Amino acid sequence: MPKQDYYEVLGVDSNATDRDIKQAFKRMARKYHPDVAENKEEAEIHFRQINEAYAILSDDEKKGMYDQFGHAAFGNSGGGGGGGGGSYNWPNSGGSGGFGFGASDLDDFVNAFFGSGRSGFGTGSSQRRTQAQRGRDLRKDVEIDLEQAYTGIETEFTVESYQPCPVCNGRRVKPGAGFRTCHVCHGNGAIRNMQSTFFGQFVTTTTCNKCHGEGQIPEELCEECKGEGRTINKEKITVTIPAGIENGTRMRVQERGEAGIYGGPSGDLYVFVFVREHDIFKRVGKDLFVDIPLGFADAALGAEKEIETFDGIEKVKIDTGIQSETVITLRGKGMPDIRGRRRGDLNVKVKVITPTKLTDGQRQILCDFAEEGPQFHYEEKGFFGKLFDALTGKGKKN
Ligand SMILES: [Zn+2]
Ligand SMILES: [Zn+2]
Repeated sequence: MPKQDYYEVLGVDSNATDRDIKQAFKRMARKYHPDVAENKEEAEIHFRQINEAYAILSDDEKKGMYDQFGHAAFGNSGGGGGGGGGSYNWPNSGGSGGFGFGASDLDDFVNAFFGSGRSGFGTGSSQRRTQAQRGRDLRKDVEIDLEQAYTGIETEFTVESYQPCPVCNGRRVKPGAGFRTCHVCHGNGAIRNMQSTFFGQFVTTTTCNKCHGEGQIPEELCEECKGEGRTINKEKITVTIPAGIENGTRMRVQERGEAGIYGGPSGDLYVFVFVREHDIFKRVGKDLFVDIPLGFADAALGAEKEIETFDGIEKVKIDTGIQSETVITLRGKGMPDIRGRRRGDLNVKVKVITPTKLTDGQRQILCDFAEEGPQFHYEEKGFFGKLFDALTGKGKKN
């Protein structure tokens, strides 16, 4: 759709005075205010056009350019950068105070109605409204083995996202170039706005749009990042995962997320650590659990067994006559505590295994063993003792 002539939009001719233009704007804005218009969709379009036209024609410099070059003066997207409605800013209002309708009312309205983009109103491509913004947080999932959770590890991975521009190191200016004081806010970073509302006038302070509140403007923008201060690139990140980390722990790595835009701070990187289950050792909190098989001769005679833990060989003393399912606890041999407190325990559960294959010699020995006397003794008063009595008859050889 070809752009309509700004003078036509406001219904004035090309030699209209400032006063004529202002009055025409007020008249048209009232007429097409989407709050009062019957056809809201159409009114919205008109309302935008009126704002856009007024942003240009009320500014001597822009008006001059428009008169000379037409819409081409402001690039394809039209609006041409009213600098965020700079003409309404105070004290640089250029003498447009005392507005009957209240320019700020319109301003606020446009914000709410068209979203913060304020299309066609200070959003010309040549001078986009830009705001320093914090970079987004990133998430990286890391899977580690239980051994690695036991010892702690340093892990390195690559993140591909917005990172500080490698050419300007996030400074946003060409290498060698510097910054100059912002001419809009005079280096204050903030602008005082006179707000005219139905309840009267008051002054508010807002962040300067020109310099994003920094008070200074790059002399020459970095070509690599176009002054954003960031580009998409790959970044190697090393994270130390502490010993004793729990499955599903979220680690926050400050300011290693996406780089901020226009000098905004970086987001954070959240590393989610998942600990793979181990084939042999089970973990519950800080405690480790392991089953060990035991022949019944060792169970009956007692023994000393060695088990290989994450920390080397541990000796486990098997008492004489140990029963299957007995748990032997090795204090402080479990997982380390992530806060450096007492370590967990290693719980060793004995599983007495009945042999399924015997040599002739073993069979003979076991026959002799069975002949020799009762195969086991029991506590008469205990539950198993009573059970045994009921099932087999007291004192009977079995
Ligand atoms: Zn750069
Ligand atoms: Zn500024």
